[in-house]
Amino acid sequence: MQHVVFNAASHLELIEQLDVFLQTHPELPQQKVLAQCYTTEQYPELLSPFVAMLHSKLPHLTLLGGNAMGIVCDIGFLKQSCVLSLLFFEHSQINIQYSSNLEKNEQEVAQELAQNLLAKQSQYDMPLKGVLLLATAFNVRISVVLHTLTSSLSQIPIFGGITGSYEDNQASYLFFNSEIKSTGVVAVGLYGEELRVGTYPYLGWQPFGEMMTVTGAHDNRLTTINHQPAFNIYHYFTGIERENFFDNAVEFPFVLHKDGNYIARVPQSVAGNELLFLAELDVGDQIQFSYGDVSTIISHRVFAKQQLAQFQPEAILVYSCCSRLHLLQEDASSDSVPYLEDRPVAGFFTLGEIDTMSSPTKVLNASVVNIALSEQPIDEEKLHARLPMDTQEPSRHLKRLKRLMRFVTRVTEKLYQANEDLQRLAQIDALTGLNNRRVIEERIPFYIELYQQKQRIFSVVLFDIDHFKQVNDQYGHVVGDEVLQRLAELVSKQLGNDDLFARYGGEEFLLLLPGKDKLAAAKLAEHLRQTIESQSATERLPAITSSFGVTQCCTELCSGQNLINAADKALYQAKQQGRNKVVIG
Ligand code: GH3
Ligand code: MG
Ligand code: MG
Repeated sequence: MQHVVFNAASHLELIEQLDVFLQTHPELPQQKVLAQCYTTEQYPELLSPFVAMLHSKLPHLTLLGGNAMGIVCDIGFLKQSCVLSLLFFEHSQINIQYSSNLEKNEQEVAQELAQNLLAKQSQYDMPLKGVLLLATAFNVRISVVLHTLTSSLSQIPIFGGITGSYEDNQASYLFFNSEIKSTGVVAVGLYGEELRVGTYPYLGWQPFGEMMTVTGAHDNRLTTINHQPAFNIYHYFTGIERENFFDNAVEFPFVLHKDGNYIARVPQSVAGNELLFLAELDVGDQIQFSYGDVSTIISHRVFAKQQLAQFQPEAILVYSCCSRLHLLQEDASSDSVPYLEDRPVAGFFTLGEIDTMSSPTKVLNASVVNIALSEQPIDEEKLHARLPMDTQEPSRHLKRLKRLMRFVTRVTEKLYQANEDLQRLAQIDALTGLNNRRVIEERIPFYIELYQQKQRIFSVVLFDIDHFKQVNDQYGHVVGDEVLQRLAELVSKQLGNDDLFARYGGEEFLLLLPGKDKLAAAKLAEHLRQTIESQSATERLPAITSSFGVTQCCTELCSGQNLINAADKALYQAKQQGRNKVVIG
C-alpha cells in the first residue's frame, strides 16, 4: 500500500500537485485507489469540476470525503484548506456504498449497508477487515446506524467521522464517487487477506465538578439534568449564552461515564431549555463537566503513538474532534498528527468521531481516532524498538491553560473534601461518635424495601439509660457525658459489621439489626443489658442499667416511624416493669 497526501488552499491546486506526482509515477493510475478529500469549502457546488478531474486522472478511483472544520495533513492542521489522501492498494479490494436516509429509517439503511458490504466478501474471496464511514450531521441518527451496523458486522472495526462545519452556514455534505450529497451515510468496505486495520482513539478530557444524573432525555436531546432544565444547568456552570452557543460550548463537553469509560458529549445547540447532541444520552447516565487537560492529552498522545508504532502502519488516517481545534488552537497540529517520521497522515476535524471498537456508544466527541492500515505483515524484529521521546514543549498558551486547569481541579477537590467532611459531620453525634438519628431515619426505608422485595428480615431496638437524671444530679454533667461515651463504646464492641447503632437523642439509643428477627434481637439486647449492668462502672464512673424495647419489621409495621413507635412502646413497658429489662413488642 502506498499513501500519498496532498494539501492546498484550493482544489485546483490539489489537481496540479497530483499531475506533478503522476508524471513521476505513471504506473499508479492503473492501481485501485481509495481517495479521501476533506475540505473547508462551504459551497459544495464549486467542487464538481474538481471531482470530475480526479475521476479522469484516476480511472480506478473510489472517492469519498466531505466538508470539515479543518483538515489534518503531514504538516499539521489547517483551517482554510483541503486535503487529498490517496491510498494505492496492492492486494486489497475496496467497495463503496452510499445510503440516504430520506426514504427509509436508519435501521433499515444500516441493515442494507451491512448486507451489501458482507456480500462482497464472497465476490472478492477476501475477508472484510474494516469499514470507513462518513455521515452528514443533523439529518442522520448516527448512533442508530452504528448500533445496527455493529450488530451485523460484530468484530469488524468501523471508523470515520461526521462531516460538517459550523463556521460557515452550518452545512454538512459528503462525497460519494462523482456525487456530492447533503444527507446520508457513505461506507467503504476494506477487504484483504493481508490487510491489517487498527484503531487507536484517545481523549484526554478530564471530568470535574459534581456528578450529575441525566433525568430527562430522548434521542439526542437532553431535557433535564438533576430534574432541572438542561440548558439552565449548563448556563449556570459555564455562563455560556444561547447566542453563538456551539462556538463556546465546544470546549466544555459533558463526560459520560459508561462501563468504566469516559465518553465526551459536546452539546451542539439549544432548543428552548433542551440541549441537542449528535449522539444519544440516556436517562440515568452519570455526567460531569469536563475540560481538555493538557497533561492528560500529552500522555495519551504519547501512548497512542507508541501503539501506532507497534502496529507498523503503511498509512495513518486521523479523525479528530473540532473541540480540540478550539481548545488547543495552534497546538492542535501536534495533537492530531501521530508523527511517525515517514508515514503520511490525512484526516479531518469532525463533528463526531466514529470508532466502534473503543466505546459502547460508538460515537465519540472531543477525541482523536487514529487509524492504522497496512497490507504488510508485522516485522517482529522491529516490534520492540524504542521510540524517540516526545520532546515537544507546549506553547505558552497551553502552559497557561494547564495552570488554570490545575487551579480549577485543586479548588474542586478542596470543595469536594469540605463537602464530604460536612456530610460526615452531619451524620455523627459529636459526644459519642455514633451515628445520629438522621442516619437511621434515612436508612430505614432501604431495609424496609429489602424486606418487602426479598423478605430480608430486620429488627429495631430502642434503649434508654435508667434514672440517668440521678447520675447527672449526683456526679455532675461531665461525668454524665463520660457515662454516655462509655456506654457507646461498650455496646459498639458487641455489634456485628452490618448492625447500625445510633444515638437517638439524650440518653436514648437505637439499634437496627439486619437479618435478626425479634427473638434474636432480644437475645442480643439481653446480652447488652447484662454487659452494661456489669461493665459500665469504672473508677470514675458509676454503674448504670438500661431498659430495652425490641420490635421486628413485619407487614403491619412497615414504616420507619411505626417501627420506632413500637420499639418505644416496648421500652415504656420495660420501664413500667421496673427497669433494667428487655421487652419484646
Ligand atoms: P428513666 O429511667 O425514666 O429514663 O429516667 P431518666 O432520669 O433517665 O429520664 P429523664 O428523661 O427524666 O432524664 C434524662 C436525663 O438525661 C435528663 C438529661 O439532663 C440527661 N441528658 C440528656 N442528654 C445528656 C447529655 O448529653 N449529657 C448529659 N450529661 N446528660 C444528658
Ligand atoms: Mg432514662
Ligand atoms: Mg430518656
